[in-house]
Amino acid sequence: MTYPRTHAAGRRGGTPSRSGGRSTAAVRVPPRRGPAGRRAVLAVLWAGLLLAVLPWWWQTPDDSLRTTTATLTAAGRIAGLVAGYLLLVQVLLMSRLPVLERRLGGEQIARWHRDIGVTLLVAVLAHVSLVLTGYARLQRQSVLVEAGVLLRDYEDMLGAFVAAGILTLLGFTGIRAIRTALPYELWHHLHLSGYLVLLLGFGHQFAHGQQLFRPGPVRTGWIVAYLLVAAALLGGRVVVPLRLNLRHGLRVADVVAENPDTISVYLTGRRLNLLDLRGGQYLRWRFLTAGRWWQAHPFSPSAAGNGRWVRLTVKVVGRHTAGLRDLTPGTRVWAEGPAGVFTAAHRTRGRSLLIAGGSGITPIRALLEELPPGAALIYRARTPADVLLHQELDWFAETYDTDVWYVIGSRDDPGPRRMLSPQGLRQLVPDLADRDVWLCGPPGLVTSTVRALRQAGVPRRQIHLATFEL
Ligand SMILES: Cc1cc2nc3c(=O)[nH]c(=O)nc-3n(C[C@H](O)[C@H](O)[C@H](O)COP(=O)(O)OP(=O)(O)OC[C@H]3O[C@@H](n4cnc5c(N)ncnc54)[C@H](O)[C@@H]3O)c2cc1C
Repeated sequence: MTYPRTHAAGRRGGTPSRSGGRSTAAVRVPPRRGPAGRRAVLAVLWAGLLLAVLPWWWQTPDDSLRTTTATLTAAGRIAGLVAGYLLLVQVLLMSRLPVLERRLGGEQIARWHRDIGVTLLVAVLAHVSLVLTGYARLQRQSVLVEAGVLLRDYEDMLGAFVAAGILTLLGFTGIRAIRTALPYELWHHLHLSGYLVLLLGFGHQFAHGQQLFRPGPVRTGWIVAYLLVAAALLGGRVVVPLRLNLRHGLRVADVVAENPDTISVYLTGRRLNLLDLRGGQYLRWRFLTAGRWWQAHPFSPSAAGNGRWVRLTVKVVGRHTAGLRDLTPGTRVWAEGPAGVFTAAHRTRGRSLLIAGGSGITPIRALLEELPPGAALIYRARTPADVLLHQELDWFAETYDTDVWYVIGSRDDPGPRRMLSPQGLRQLVPDLADRDVWLCGPPGLVTSTVRALRQAGVPRRQIHLATFEL
C-alpha cells in the first residue's frame, strides 16, 4: 500500500516561513450546504416545546388560577412539562443520529447539551419546589411533611425524587472546573445515568402528570415522542454503527511515528469508497484490543476520504493515546461517524484562510483537499520538529495554489504573537475579511485568534471552529 508520505519535500521552518505554488490540480470541492439545516433543527425543537406546554393551556380554565396556591401548582406543572420535554431533547441530542451529527456537528451539539442541561436542571428544581409548596399550602402543612406524604402515598414518586437527585448531580459535574478535574471516563460514565433519569421520569410523568395520566391524544402524543427518541437512540447508537462496521471491517494497517509525541495510524477496510467522509469531519474510534475496546475516542482523519485508506494523526496526551503506539497491524477497529460541520460544504465564501495550532492540523490538512484553490494556511507550532505532515502541506502549496505559512516559536515569543494579531493576520492575508476562516488548535490559541479575527473585520459567520472538545 502506498501512503502519501513520499510527496516531494518542500520548504519549511523559519519564523514564519512561506511556501506557495501556482499550478492548480483538480480539487473535489463539495457543493455548499448553508446554515439551513441548523435552523430547521432549531425550529423543530422550539415547536416541540410549544406543543409540550400547549395541553396545559387548553386544559386549564382561566378562573382556576385565582389563588396563590393554584398559581404555584400550575407554574410547577408547566415547569414539569418543560422538564419532561427538555429531557427528551437531551437524549435525542446524544443519540448520535447522523442527521443531527452532520447538520449540527459534535461541538454545537455539546454546547446545546450543556445549555439545555442547565435549563433542564432549573426546570426540574422549579417543578419540585413549586408543586411541593402548592400542595403544602393546600393541605396547610409544612413542605417537609408534604414531601413525606407524597413519597409515602404516591406510586413512582420515590423514583421521581431519585431522578431529580441524579439530575442535580449531573448539573454539578457539568460545571467546567468540576468537569475538567474529573477523569474523562468517570465523567462520561456518570453521564450515562441520564438514561436512568429518562426511565424514572417516564413512570412519574404518566402516573402523576395532570395532563398525561388520562388516556387521550396528549398522553398518546407523549408516548409517541418517547418512542421516537428511543428509536433515534437505537438507530444512532446501534443500527448505524453496526451497518458501517459490518460493511467496512476496518483494521489497523500501519502505525507510523510522525515525531516523538505524534503517530499516524493507517486503517484499511472493505469498500471504503462508500465511506461518506468529508475532509474535516471526525469519527469516534474503538480499537478492539483487550485494554482498549471499551473506550471510544474522537479523532479527525488527517486526509479526506479517498476510498483506499483512512489515516488518523494522533498526539499523545494521555493513557489512551500513548497506548495507540502499540497497535499492531490487523487490529480490528470499530468506528462511529463520520460527524461534524467543519467541512468545505459549510463554506460561505469563495476563498479560505486555515489556521492550525499543533495537532489541530489534522482536520485542516484533510479540509485542504476539498476547498477551492487559492486557500492560505497559517500553521502555528512550537518548534520545527512539531510541524506535522509538512511534506504534504508543501505539496498542497505547490499543487493547489495554497500559501502555507509556518509560524514557529513558543507561546511567549513576541514574533508569533505579532503574526496572529489583527495587524499580523491582515499583513499575511490582506483579504482575510472576505474569506472563510477555519480554525483548529488548543483552546488558548482558538480564543485569542477568534478575538484577533473579529478585530480584523472577519464576520462571525465566516469563522469555523474545531475545538477538539465534545
Ligand atoms: C471532535 C474531536 C476530534 C479530535 N481529533 C483529534 C485528532 O485528529 N488528533 C488528535 O491528536 N486529537 C484529536 N482529538 C483529541 C483527542 O480525542 C484526545 O486528545 C484524546 O481522546 C485524549 O485521550 P487520552 O486518554 O490519551 O488523554 P486524557 O489525558 O485522558 O484526555 C485528555 C483530554 O481529552 C479529552 N478526552 C479524553 N477522552 C475522551 C473521549 N473518549 N472523548 C472525547 N474527549 C476525550 C478530554 O477533554 C480530556 O481532558 C479530537 C477531539 C475531538 C473532540
